[in-house]
Amino acid sequence: MIFTPEKCRIPDQRMKPFIDPDEIWEILNETKADRKSVREVIAKSLEKNRLTLRETAILINASDPDLIEEIKEGARELKKRVYGNRIVLFAPLYVGNKCTNNCKYCGFRVSNKEAIRKTLSDGELIKEVEALEDNGQKRLILVYGEHPEYNAEYIAHTVRTVYGVKKGPGEIRRVNINAAPLEIEDFRIVKEAGIGTYQIFQETYHPGAYKTYHLGGKKRNFEYRLTSLDRAQEAGIDDVGIGALFGLYDWRFEVMGLVRHTNHLEACYQVGPHTISFPRIKNASKLEIGKDYTVSDEDFARLVAILRLAVPYTGMILTARENPALRHEVIQFGVSQIDGGTKLELGSYSDSINEHQDLNREQFEISDNRSLNEIIDELFENDYLPSFCTACYRRGRTGEHFMEFSVPGFIKRFCSPNAMLTLAEYLEDYAPADTKRKGWEVISKNLKDLDESPGNFNTTELKNRLERVKAGERDLYF
Ligand code: SAM
Ligand code: SF4
Repeated sequence: MIFTPEKCRIPDQRMKPFIDPDEIWEILNETKADRKSVREVIAKSLEKNRLTLRETAILINASDPDLIEEIKEGARELKKRVYGNRIVLFAPLYVGNKCTNNCKYCGFRVSNKEAIRKTLSDGELIKEVEALEDNGQKRLILVYGEHPEYNAEYIAHTVRTVYGVKKGPGEIRRVNINAAPLEIEDFRIVKEAGIGTYQIFQETYHPGAYKTYHLGGKKRNFEYRLTSLDRAQEAGIDDVGIGALFGLYDWRFEVMGLVRHTNHLEACYQVGPHTISFPRIKNASKLEIGKDYTVSDEDFARLVAILRLAVPYTGMILTARENPALRHEVIQFGVSQIDGGTKLELGSYSDSINEHQDLNREQFEISDNRSLNEIIDELFENDYLPSFCTACYRRGRTGEHFMEFSVPGFIKRFCSPNAMLTLAEYLEDYAPADTKRKGWEVISKNLKDLDESPGNFNTTELKNRLERVKAGERDLYF
């Protein structure tokens, strides 16, 4: 057993709210972080163990700059040791921004009368996906406001539509969704459409704070949102993503909330979240958020490193909300997925009329406007291996992050080869000459590393498949 879920306080806590703010504060206030205990906790994580709430609190409470540096170094080491240099790329696609909720941080809130509302028609959705395929994207996350129009059947319809779009060599091989919580039977409908991850953020894990930001609509119900992933699990969706919106409440509490959510899922369903997201609040039309809980860049880097160590087996997502320099810095602390070429305005992938963001048409402001290819170029410069891999999901290997993490040799056998094969497709089909040249050098270097790695991994079949990609075959994976 690699992790030991903390004991459920009640025999079966499925579907039951599991956040006790007093308990979390008590742990945070009572846990001391001396040098010895911080080092022990980092060592435990490097041995591939998920941390308990108390151990997470030790890392959170470490305030000595040297210790913070050790935590960051631990996160860097864990990423290197466990996951290697792959970074998975995706893009968000906003499908509809009608919304009946009134979240004080969001440009789509119902009280924002200046928001320009739009739901993509099937034709517009297809055009958007074609444009994304033309850029080389293979993985999307579809995003919806919360509105009666965006019910389970509608969401399933849009997911199927996206899978059906094939332009030239392009296709979307994995469609994740970020949508409002559903009932169990509705989750089943969405699952049937073949979604990858169902992602939903609790925004803040503090029930009192939650109330002050969510002024209207169904989203006011903290517990209904908190138990949404239990209902998803009951419906058979075991690939789920959690997140907190940093800046609404004390970041230390939110990190504890994310770990508590993780151990709830582990205890009840024997599977933790596939991904953790940690968006920070950005400017938005009619934003009404004070500065009390603003998370500085330093604390942001620190909390990402702490999350990496606390839940060593999850994917970690860092989005274009953050600027290129900060993304560059934070990626090293254990991020596994980033978006590239991101546009938030509905319809703007296929029809970029506005070069600049118009906040009345978008949920919030982003700080990284680079194209997918620019992002890939930067990843090459920093020795990362960009990946568009969707193999585990399509081979039925669920819990892929957990396997990467726990099955010896899994990354060498599957993840790195599939990263190279999908990168090779991108280079052949979409990359400008200079990126193509650099990209093949990156693949050669990674092949050499595989050849020279312990365990005599045989790269003959991989080399053979890379040649087949060069010759025009597509979608070859292990
Ligand atoms: N309507 C869905 C919901 O509320 O769950 C999807 C919303 S959206 C794509 C996903 C996330 O964006 C939200 O859950 C929230 O955490 C985040 N978000 C909303 N407003 C934001 C802002 N001003 N800055 C950064 N992130 C924001
Ligand atoms: Fe609606 Fe989601 Fe925005 Fe809240 S965060 S107003 S639910 S789109």
